[in-house]
Amino acid sequence: MQIYRDVDVDSSILEGKRISVLGYGSQGRAQALCLRDSGVDVTVGVRRDGESWKAAQKDGLRVTDIADAVKGADIVMMLLPDEVQGGVYKELVEPNLKSGAALEFAHGFAITFGTIVPPKDVDVIMVAPKGPGNMIRMIFEEGFGVPAIFSIHQDSTGKARDIVLALCKKMGFTRPGVFEESFRNECHTDLFGEQAVLCGGITELIKKAFEVLVEAGYPPEMAYFEVLHETKLVVDLINRGGLSYMWREVSNTAEYGGLTRRSRIVTEDSKEEMRKILKEIQDGTFSNQWISEFDGGMVNMRKMEKDEEGLLVEKVGKEIRREFFNRE
Ligand code: NAD
Ligand code: MG
Repeated sequence: MQIYRDVDVDSSILEGKRISVLGYGSQGRAQALCLRDSGVDVTVGVRRDGESWKAAQKDGLRVTDIADAVKGADIVMMLLPDEVQGGVYKELVEPNLKSGAALEFAHGFAITFGTIVPPKDVDVIMVAPKGPGNMIRMIFEEGFGVPAIFSIHQDSTGKARDIVLALCKKMGFTRPGVFEESFRNECHTDLFGEQAVLCGGITELIKKAFEVLVEAGYPPEMAYFEVLHETKLVVDLINRGGLSYMWREVSNTAEYGGLTRRSRIVTEDSKEEMRKILKEIQDGTFSNQWISEFDGGMVNMRKMEKDEEGLLVEKVGKEIRREFFNRE
């Protein structure tokens, strides 16, 4: 894997270029502020007088509506939620995008699943940071950065590579380092990770384990500490030094219990299901389902959110976080 760092990148290609960041949420805010602090000419494009408009203005950025931000921009950064990008692109970006501009993404969804099909005369690039917006901003302010993946889907001007790497440098990502991958690989692996482990897998493990303890008569508060609160402590160890490092840090009892029991919890059947989940990502089943859920007003998703809020682990958690950690 070739890793690009600050010394490998000349960011002078961005001098005099007009960059528009569309969306001012998690990524939009962080990326716009980092670029501005690196001396880049940034305009934020958001819905007029909405929450994001006010937030960007408060942060001292130049703000305008999306169509206006796209007009004349050399680089348009699509930092809107994946599910709205297709619609916003058709209505406000495509009609205003100049020939020779670069269309930039933070995730491969829109290009991989074709919710956006850019014209041939623009560059299509991606900078996918490995961290949420608030972390990107915090680490940048400390003088460093988070790693990122960059991609070039379409190089119409012959300058796509210089541009994408320059953006990486200006946002601090080339301090730890960036590497190149395809939109497709970034998108498939990112979605799979979220579904199998990070968001899907871990929440279901917590939920079911909490239920088992409570149904067996143990106090919910204790169950909360053991199966939810402490996940972070173990995940931090795994993140820092990998699996073996974590096993060394936890007690011998925890190590023995974990190593002998884990494959009864996540079984060969679970692995088979993971393969099916990956297949649904690869063949477009997942993205089609998600986009139609969004188009249908996210009725099912709102219901699932409501069910989740109603769980005992959520009610108990609220109390505990208030009592012990002074937060909701
Ligand atoms: P977000 O939900 O935090 O922010 C969305 C912004 O878009 C807000 O300013 C919101 O007002 C605006 N917006 C929402 N709906 C809109 C609409 N219909 N029309 C116009 N504006 C609208 O989004 P995010 O999490 O920053 O995600 C942006 C991109 O970054 C996505 O492609 C996502 O996959 C990618 N990404 C996100 C993270 C993350 O940690 N959040 C990490 C890596 C990549
Ligand atoms: Mg990810």
